[in-house]
Amino acid sequence: MEQTKFYVLPKLSYDYKDLAPYMSEEQLRIHHSKHHQAYVNGANAILERMDKARKDGVDFDVKATLKELSWNIGGHLLHSLFWINLAPSGKGGGKPGGRLADALVKEFGSLERFKKEFTTAAVSVEGSGWAALTLCRQTNRPLIMQVEKHNMNVYPAFRILMVLDVFEHAYYIDYKNDRAKFVEAFWSIVNWDTVNKRLEEATR
Ligand code: MN
Repeated sequence: MEQTKFYVLPKLSYDYKDLAPYMSEEQLRIHHSKHHQAYVNGANAILERMDKARKDGVDFDVKATLKELSWNIGGHLLHSLFWINLAPSGKGGGKPGGRLADALVKEFGSLERFKKEFTTAAVSVEGSGWAALTLCRQTNRPLIMQVEKHNMNVYPAFRILMVLDVFEHAYYIDYKNDRAKFVEAFWSIVNWDTVNKRLEEATR
């Protein structure tokens, strides 16, 4: 993905007419140049608002802003992946090769079985839904994932640099219901070196 301060609508590696008859020129043009562009514009507008608030030293509604941002970044990132998943008519389809073919057969038993499960995941997903093939790096197993909403406050595929568990079981014995006090304490025990290491790995 391009390295810029703001998001940019990615150019397609094929023409709008190239996916017909499977996806019409009109459908693809509107989807890319209107719908995807709207996510890019939406995310950039929020980033600009946050930049300005930080520069001016004023607060903004963090909770609402992050939700709105995840809707737009989620839409942008997922569409960007979708476009590179597609190939012009006559050049796509068929069977995967290489390590992907081996991984799918090993996990699902056969390509047909994978396609059947992926199809079911895609057909049954709720909301602003997506079906995705993912890879777990702990088990190296390819896993199918349903994305029910791309505004679940998660930026798809973004590497996590730091986390804080704020579910009750993380603090109720020490801090009872006072989550804010627990969060404040976190800043005294955070390991910045590990966070920095993950940042450096991610930008290598
Ligand atoms: Mn779409």
